[in-house]
Amino acid sequence: MQNRNGTSRRDMLRTGATIVVGIAGVAAASSARAQDEKIAQELVQYQNMPKDGQKCNMCAQWVEPNACKIVAGTISPEGYCVAYAPKEG
Ligand code: SF4
Repeated sequence: MQNRNGTSRRDMLRTGATIVVGIAGVAAASSARAQDEKIAQELVQYQNMPKDGQKCNMCAQWVEPNACKIVAGTISPEGYCVAYAPKEG
């Protein structure tokens, strides 16, 4: 069955389903991108050794065993960068 525009109900449902799937895909991609948005190590002058007794595993951004909440990539517990912020307490 077709309406006045020559578009069948089935065509309209198919188009609607395609749009919904497309929106879901964009939302999923945006979410994944948000999780990947960390600062490049070069931008915060990351180094894999401590500086003046300050090191990653003493930083508030540190994530066991080898990551950082804000800096991308593998992070050494003995590393350091200019975004260092001492853990409180
Ligand atoms: S010193 Fe820099 S790289 Fe290390 S945990 Fe803190 S913010 Fe992350």
